[in-house]
Amino acid sequence: MKPLVVAIDGPAGAGKSTVSRRLAQALAYRYIDTGAMYRVIGVLAAEQRIDVTNDAALAALCDHTKIEFVESDGRVCTLVDGRDMSDIIRTPEAAQLASKTSTVPVVRERLVAMQRSMGASGGVVMEGRDIGTVVFPNAPVKVFLDASPRERAWRRASEMHDKVGDEELERMTREIAERDARDRGRAHSPLRPAEDALLLDTTKMKLDEVVRTLLEHIATRAAALESHS
Ligand code: C5P
Repeated sequence: MKPLVVAIDGPAGAGKSTVSRRLAQALAYRYIDTGAMYRVIGVLAAEQRIDVTNDAALAALCDHTKIEFVESDGRVCTLVDGRDMSDIIRTPEAAQLASKTSTVPVVRERLVAMQRSMGASGGVVMEGRDIGTVVFPNAPVKVFLDASPRERAWRRASEMHDKVGDEELERMTREIAERDARDRGRAHSPLRPAEDALLLDTTKMKLDEVVRTLLEHIATRAAALESHS
């Protein structure tokens, strides 16, 4: 089977990361988390006190930052110029910073170019918001994962291993809805399913079921491509 680009898009907490990692493992593909790239730029811009309106400084920051995904002990680490930023980019603050810097066109242009070169030879599962619509509009496999805002907040809360009360869950649901609105409403590359994407609502699905459904879908798409070539 020719190594394909598998594009996985969807809102925060829809299960993209866990599902994408499992798919990459099953297919022996590389896993690329484009959200981590926007988080890195958001956190670095905040550390360096670069304002979101400063296009030139943001462009220079992207141009001089080397982001790599390195597997270590079964975990994918985000290395930035050799610094392990895997943990610092996972905070709720980093998510909000990413969602703001990702609205800046020069940042998107730079990161999209990096993502295209990372996936140029295929054999990647790339997750994000615009992979099937902008980064790889010709990807042979496009999936849009979704789930209800409350279910997504609940999944995020369980990832944090803390006991979360009703009030905290309400707050997280609001935060997710706010980030979704910004991602869906922005002028540049808004979050939306590609016309030819497989839409999967995972609210009531178990992880194994999602992975199985997608592996079957990928096998079907790969077989269709082989028969056309
Ligand atoms: O996927 P994750 O939650 O880590 O993404 C963080 C933020 O980065 C998103 O809320 C979104 O604003 C932005 N993002 C994006 N385009 C992508 C991936 C992430 O705009 N391809």
